[in-house]
Amino acid sequence: MKISPQTVDQPECLSGEKLHSPREVAHMLDLSVETLRLYEREGLFVPYKLSSGHRRFTDEDIEWIKCIQRQIHENKLNFAGIRYLLAMLPCHEMKPCCLEDHETCPAGTKSCRPCWDFEDTPCRIQGENCRTCVVYQQVLNIDNLKQILQVKFKCD
Ligand code: SF4
Repeated sequence: MKISPQTVDQPECLSGEKLHSPREVAHMLDLSVETLRLYEREGLFVPYKLSSGHRRFTDEDIEWIKCIQRQIHENKLNFAGIRYLLAMLPCHEMKPCCLEDHETCPAGTKSCRPCWDFEDTPCRIQGENCRTCVVYQQVLNIDNLKQILQVKFKCD
């Protein structure tokens, strides 16, 4: 069974935020809907999904996608490079995980992919939701992300 990291109709985590469709976001950012899908498939972000399966984006999601674009076009990072940076988020400390989970988690210290890009982390298996997780929330707060990773993310 594929375990989705995506929020399915949890209005409490949106608290009145305006949600944008992929088409609106593509238009705003001058990219294609296919590019948004590609970023998602590459594990660069976790979209909000309605129970219908349709994707929606908050303003924070849009800021993060702009940041991804800058990493690609200005910092000349490829997808693997961005994933590598995101994999440096110390999720086991931020949660925190128990020792047993930390030792067996595929998104451990040697991973080159962010934890939400795995379907079989202990937290995902237990049904945790990446969109509302403290780890993924750092991605949507770019200033925090830069501070945690202590790398230059050109997002200004
Ligand atoms: S630590 Fe959080 S973001 Fe990472 S896989 Fe677990 S629930 Fe998802």
